[in-house]
Amino acid sequence: MTDAVVVDNLRKRYGRIQALDGISLAVPRGEIFGLLGANGAGKTTLIRSLVGLARPDSGTLRVLGLDPVREARALRRQVGYMPQAPSLYQDLSPRENVRFFGSAHELGDAEARVAEVMKFVELAARERDPVHTLSGGMKQRVSLACALVHRPPLLLLDEPTAGVDPPLREAFWNHFRGLAAAGGTIFVSTHQLDEAMSCGRVAVMRNGRILACDTPAGLLQRGRTVVRVASGGRTEEETIASTPEALAEFLKRRGLDPAVARVELAADTLEKIVLDLVRREGAQP
Ligand code: ATP
Repeated sequence: MTDAVVVDNLRKRYGRIQALDGISLAVPRGEIFGLLGANGAGKTTLIRSLVGLARPDSGTLRVLGLDPVREARALRRQVGYMPQAPSLYQDLSPRENVRFFGSAHELGDAEARVAEVMKFVELAARERDPVHTLSGGMKQRVSLACALVHRPPLLLLDEPTAGVDPPLREAFWNHFRGLAAAGGTIFVSTHQLDEAMSCGRVAVMRNGRILACDTPAGLLQRGRTVVRVASGGRTEEETIASTPEALAEFLKRRGLDPAVARVELAADTLEKIVLDLVRREGAQP
């Protein structure tokens, strides 16, 4: 089976800004693939390219085996896209918005699907109010419901949990994990490092380029760990790489003296590793 997303050397320029500067990646079906990066890194441009809304200048792109520009219509049926700014009909209610998006897909059991996603996003109390009267987080929920209503095999989500409260954010991610476990593919941008930890792999972007693409565990191993060893009333500290091999080496080198009472590890967080990656790249000419 082909990968859900295949991107090769993708470039896109807006005037003097190189929004995408040679992006290559492949996302197998069933993976949750995360995009991390500062404002302006190119995450939205990449996601908009995948859904056919931004036209790349060069490079190749296949989404579910289709060309997002030339086969846009066929692709839209199989993709759930949640834009960064919810694009909803402000005078319609949440339910009417979801029903409208669902109608574009000619669903056999449309009302049941609408009811199912409305229940999931927990908007029963407000489902008849016009969207313009809802809070930002509630609009995000409606937007997600619209993206999910036709049960697409691929979800392209641009910061789906921005403004969503923690309990619902957890519910969103539980749902994403469930969809991926059932074979669905999720391509998601986020600024939340804890969300990145829930991805199968994460690409860290800066200035239209991918600086690193790895599993969360692989990214964590790029950091440093401070090891504090308390022995006989003294505490010594040493910094090692955050890999199991480096820890084994450290312990072998020291030979674990019976007097050692405590060994504490303080590993770099994903946030620090990502910031260091981005800063290091920024320091290069
Ligand atoms: P954020 O985290 O703020 O959402 P992002 O990583 O999604 O940022 P993009 O929105 O893809 O970043 O923007 C990448 C670069 O392209 C930025 O410098 C942005 O100003 C520029 N850009 C994006 N869209 C346009 C446009 N329509 N016209 C001109 N410049 C654009």
